[in-house]
This record gives sequence, structure tokens and C-alpha cells, in this order.
Amino acid sequence: MMSNQTITLGDFELTALSDGTYVGDGGAFFGVVPKVLWQRKVKPDDMNRIKVSCNAVLVRTGKHTVLIEAGIGNKLPEKTKSFFLPELKLMESLAASGTRREEIDVVINSHLHFDHCGWNTIYENGVAVPNFPNAKYYAPKGEWEHGSLQLERDRVSYISDNYDPLIRTGQMQLLGGELQEIIPGISVQAWPGHTRNMWAVFVRSAGKTACYISDLIPTTWHLEPTWVMAYDLFPLEAIENRKKYYERAIPEQWLTMFTHDPDVPWAYIMRQDGKISFQRV
Ligand SMILES: [Zn+2]
Repeated sequence: MMSNQTITLGDFELTALSDGTYVGDGGAFFGVVPKVLWQRKVKPDDMNRIKVSCNAVLVRTGKHTVLIEAGIGNKLPEKTKSFFLPELKLMESLAASGTRREEIDVVINSHLHFDHCGWNTIYENGVAVPNFPNAKYYAPKGEWEHGSLQLERDRVSYISDNYDPLIRTGQMQLLGGELQEIIPGISVQAWPGHTRNMWAVFVRSAGKTACYISDLIPTTWHLEPTWVMAYDLFPLEAIENRKKYYERAIPEQWLTMFTHDPDVPWAYIMRQDGKISFQRV
């Protein structure tokens, strides 16, 4: 597991927290991209699985302590766990950053797939309770509506215990997709492609911008606009929105945060000889 990395962004402090790795089918992560091409970037195991990470970001603004994303969590049934082999390290990473869960006052879920909101809640005597008792939680309203439909295509991705108990008590607020500020310097906006309502989370301080673009660009292996995942519900929009993202992120030097990259939690994106590449921080 990678250890926590901390950087400053303007007046804010950002710490990359990993929930550890899990494995997933390589083909699912690369869609129609031939294996002969993607395996140059990441080597699959003998079951064609690749190891990815779940990266969250802790933002200390001086006034607020914000957790962007909440990993897989420890509520998965044994059978599902045996399939994904998640390391479930987020709470350890948080402790290593010197932060108690009670100190988190804002939790933002970019979307409600179980690998992005799992630590929102934990089981206490079999009942899902808030894992961050003093936090206000935020998630996209359209994600909750879509997850509630329990469609055969993606119902396995939506586990209601990750969010419904928080919505029932009013601790989680569901918001629309228009650009809106959650606290000063941290805003969310829908960037469709992976799902219809997934948010990008923007962190802005003293003229600097970082963006948690979540599953729209899950790793540095996915920088090529057409290398979209088989999981994506709207692949054509994912391609267009990646290009739209680069049009701003490159000239404005946004620090891009990668949700599933096991080695690079954040990087600056560049265009080099017509190809999209990245520069480590
Ligand atoms: Zn997802």
C-alpha cells in the first residue's frame, strides 16, 4: 500500500489516503481496448485481474476537515470480498494522517458505487451507522435515484446501507449536478460519462485548483480519451467529457486526483507530441 502523501494547494493541505488495493477484471477496466495494448501499462494476473487502489483525499482548509470519497468500507459480504480482495485500509490511512474520524466535518461522495462510499457507514450490532458521526455528507441526487432503481445492469454497484441510513436522518444531503459550492473552496459539478450524475469535486485555494475527477479518468492508464471503461454507462459522453476536461485542466494546471490509481494519487496532465501524459507531483 502506498503511504499517505501530503501537499499544499494554496492555503489548503491535501492528503491522499488509500483504502488499499483491490482486484478487478482487466477487460472491465479497459472496455474495447485490446489487451495487447493495455497490458503494456498494467500487468494482469493469471485470472486476468489487475490491482487498483481506492484513493480518497483529505482536505484541511483551516476551517474544515473534508473527506472526498470513502473507499470500499468493511460491510461487503464475504462472497463479494473474496472476489475483489479489498485491503480496507482507509481508517488506518486516516489514523496515520493524525486525523480522528470525529474530526471530519464534511464527506463528499462523487457517486454512490460501493467502492466510493463504503466507509460512509459501519455496522454496529448489524445496523449501519455513520462512520463519521460529526460530518455532513453530500452525494449526487441523480445517483441515489438511479441506484434506487436497482437496474439489472448495475444494481450490484449500489448498496443502500452505504447511504440510505444517512439520508433517513438528514445527515446526508443529495444535491443536483449544477456547479455548486459545498464549503468555501470546495465545489461539485456533474461530469457525465461513467454515470449520468457522477460529480467532479473541485478544490480551489489562492488561485490553485485540484480536481477529483473520479471514475471519468480513474487512473493514469486511462488518460487517452478513448480508453474508457466497460463499466461506463455512457462511453461516448465519457470520451467527450475527458476532452473537455483536458481543455481546461492542462492550460490551467489543475492537479488531477486519480480515484483508482495504485501508484499515482495525483498528477498534472500534459499534452506531449499530441499524446496526453502526466507529470508526477
Ligand atoms: Zn464507479
